[in-house]
Amino acid sequence: MVTEANIATMEATHACWSCGDMRAAQFCNSCGKVQPPTPVDYFSFFGLPRKLNLDTAALERDFYTMSRKLHPDHYADHDSREQTWSLEQSSRLNDAYRTLKDPIRRTEYLLKLEGVELEGQSKKGTEEARVTGEKKQIVPPDLLEEVFELNMQLEELRASKKVGEEDPALIQELQKHKQALEQKFNDFFEELKDYWNKWDSAEESGSDGHRKVARDKMVDLLNRRSYIRNLVRDVNEALGS
Ligand SMILES: [Zn+2]
Repeated sequence: MVTEANIATMEATHACWSCGDMRAAQFCNSCGKVQPPTPVDYFSFFGLPRKLNLDTAALERDFYTMSRKLHPDHYADHDSREQTWSLEQSSRLNDAYRTLKDPIRRTEYLLKLEGVELEGQSKKGTEEARVTGEKKQIVPPDLLEEVFELNMQLEELRASKKVGEEDPALIQELQKHKQALEQKFNDFFEELKDYWNKWDSAEESGSDGHRKVARDKMVDLLNRRSYIRNLVRDVNEALGS
């Protein structure tokens, strides 16, 4: 009989709870029974190496195949544990797919697996940082001049709004500035892909040094991206759009 205790042991040895053969992350390779979820990362969940260049069409196919196989309807007359596990595995599958198919989320996720804590990028996080004065986002060096100028213009705009004056020239300037920032935001992908390649080849060669370099570059780039996004938001708020 299969007891809770020996399920736990079998999990540790990656054996199927039902037939005892080797199991995959979701199903037993031999008897096809749904397996209890194990705490594997999303890459392993899909049987993928920890690389950033990813065939998203293949990922999508795998996702749909697994979704069908894990669908709770198939398990209505199965062991109640299998029913629960198919639900848990489905929800994990959805999380894994949603994270890996998106290039930014995939990168952030990998960095998190590598132990990187990214700067608070949420709107809430940024606002808290503003209030408490803690963990201010560092201005990326190549943006220093631009940020300085932009902040001056924003101050000016807020001041003129306070006294109920419109300054069309200033508004136009700010809109131009915003467009330039948005362009930078879009260019960011090219740079990111370059680091993906560096990361992937470091992963293949097993070079810790190269991995670290690629990792740190990606962290800088993502922080820069979130900085620019926040700036664009500030401009939009000031313009009232
Ligand atoms: Zn089995």
